[in-house]
Amino acid sequence: MKSKHFSANTMEERQDIFQEYFDRDLEHYFDSRISCCEHCYDEFCREWPGTAARDENFQRSGIEISYFLEQSRIQEAFYPEEIELFSKKLECPNCAAALDGVFYIFEHKFLVDEFHLSSIADLASKSPFLLLSHPFAAKVFDVIKRRFETADSLQAKSIWYRGRMAKDVPASPSLSDFGPPPATKVAEGRYNHAGHAMLYLADSANTVKGEMRASQPISVATIELDLTCKVLDLTICDDIDGDDDEVIQCLARSALCAAPRKSDGWDRPEYVFTRFVADCARHAGFGAVRYGSVQDHEGVNVVLLEPPSDISAIARLITTHTIPV
Ligand SMILES: [Zn+2]
Repeated sequence: MKSKHFSANTMEERQDIFQEYFDRDLEHYFDSRISCCEHCYDEFCREWPGTAARDENFQRSGIEISYFLEQSRIQEAFYPEEIELFSKKLECPNCAAALDGVFYIFEHKFLVDEFHLSSIADLASKSPFLLLSHPFAAKVFDVIKRRFETADSLQAKSIWYRGRMAKDVPASPSLSDFGPPPATKVAEGRYNHAGHAMLYLADSANTVKGEMRASQPISVATIELDLTCKVLDLTICDDIDGDDDEVIQCLARSALCAAPRKSDGWDRPEYVFTRFVADCARHAGFGAVRYGSVQDHEGVNVVLLEPPSDISAIARLITTHTIPV
């Protein structure tokens, strides 16, 4: 095949040069690398649900290979028929599929390979009581302890929302109808062990609706919370300063803490790591954890780790309203 500049090279070398040009443009124009392609996009989203749902840099990072090549400096160095031939050999670095459609130019601002997510997920599901034996879990424990000193407290008189099925509350509900459930009725939750009541609150009625995924009307209480406790912040953030931030972002973004609930049964392996995090947080002295809603990508939740059984000691009911289906 005729070559614009590389006639002296073998076809194999010309393929390599083409790849170098491609990589150079990725680096030059985007200062980033390929995170996934349309063939492994779902897998990436399963592994990094927080990033997929909330990070605009990732959400805007998709680009068609044909468009990328049209804009690339490759056009100056290769004839169209060379581009057509060599581009067929471009591969997704994540799954090795041919880059023949959309691919995503995005890079986490921390070294994801260091976290060995699959080995920790494996340990969490096989022997959850041994989690602390995993180096990453041990690191999480240390980071959370260090975090306590500099963490913010819950804002005084902050407004939060809590929902219940409308059929389960009286016509004129009171604050106690929205308190933590009795220990005997508490199943394993995202942050709580079975039998250990925590109070889950959301930042809007919409988040409540998304979290409850209800097929029947729900009653939503607007609550003013007056509790001054430290909050462990597990929401996503781009401002990463040091190892501790990297660990927190790994928690906020990965399936370890942001996996959607899979079943209604008693076995909920997707909650093992979050319950471990809650144990670390309580041990360190935190009274609450703030985290992105898994169901509503705009929403934020806060869970009070040790609420009093009578929440009138820390909260005031402002109003309630019913959201129809
Ligand atoms: Zn891929």
